[in-house]
Amino acid sequence: MRFDILTIFPNFFSGPLDHGILSRAIATGAVHVTTHDLRDFTHDRHRTVDDRPFGGGEGMVLKPQPIFDCIESLGAAGSRTETGAASSNQNISLIECSETESNGLATAIAPPIESKSARDLTRQSVILLSAQGKPFTQAIAHRLAALDRVVLICGRYEGVDERVAELLADEELSIGDYVLSGGELAAAVVLDATVRLLPGVLGHADSARYESFGAPDIQPGDPADGHTPDGVPRSTHGAGGILDYPHYTRPADFRGAPIPEVLANGDHASIRRWRRQAALAKTLRNRPDLLRDAELSAEDLRFLNTLRP
Ligand code: SAM
Repeated sequence: MRFDILTIFPNFFSGPLDHGILSRAIATGAVHVTTHDLRDFTHDRHRTVDDRPFGGGEGMVLKPQPIFDCIESLGAAGSRTETGAASSNQNISLIECSETESNGLATAIAPPIESKSARDLTRQSVILLSAQGKPFTQAIAHRLAALDRVVLICGRYEGVDERVAELLADEELSIGDYVLSGGELAAAVVLDATVRLLPGVLGHADSARYESFGAPDIQPGDPADGHTPDGVPRSTHGAGGILDYPHYTRPADFRGAPIPEVLANGDHASIRRWRRQAALAKTLRNRPDLLRDAELSAEDLRFLNTLRP
């Protein structure tokens, strides 16, 4: 999979990309990330990317031209050229280095970004990060993880000329109901949440399944209400759209706070049931909105009723 990030602050990404799972995914070639400095697509001496808003008002607006030119350069002409054009940037050098070392071939054959009308949305997406966008969710991260190529456009100042949203981007995504000073943090969030879902990126394939917002966990042959034949809810982790269950590690007693006894008794059916109920209780406490669309068994509903006043 390949990500292209359009920004006026390409160095911003050296932090997020250089640590942990993201850095490993880049090193193994599971993902290729290239930042593009929008100032490299300006045509004036001052490398101007912004201008005053029509109609008056505070602040500046990112001009459409550098963004259009940058995305068009990712089209049929091939993105290697563009990466080279921006290679004075330290962050890009690092990424180019890992691309070349790990999987130069995959980079060379990255599918070009098509014009909006011709774009195959099952393979690629151009996304504008915006406080006015649709909420970014785990379900969207899963959808993006199935694509070949994603372009993330980071706004700044008062935002981005609306024609970018209208004519260039496939969707606008927001990472939450607050206003950031720029789209870079939001792009890093989308990148991280998506890359960890790519095959082989997490140590264990099930890790991305049994966690908060995880997919329903019905197995073939399960009774219709999602229980195992012995009556234990199959969604025994935080799967099925709710939050993860609480985790504990050693010591069993920390500063007078013991772990729940059931976790140490070796009875796996009771542990699974406790985890499911703890996840339900936490979801009810912190995110009751998730319960509306969650996959809940009859046993789940009975348990939730015991918690409600
Ligand atoms: N005037 C805009 C508004 O009220 O919606 C806010 C612009 S904000 C200061 C500058 C840039 O930060 C935006 O263009 C966008 O790229 C990014 N941004 C801000 N909040 C965001 C959010 N919640 N999610 C994603 N991107 C965000």
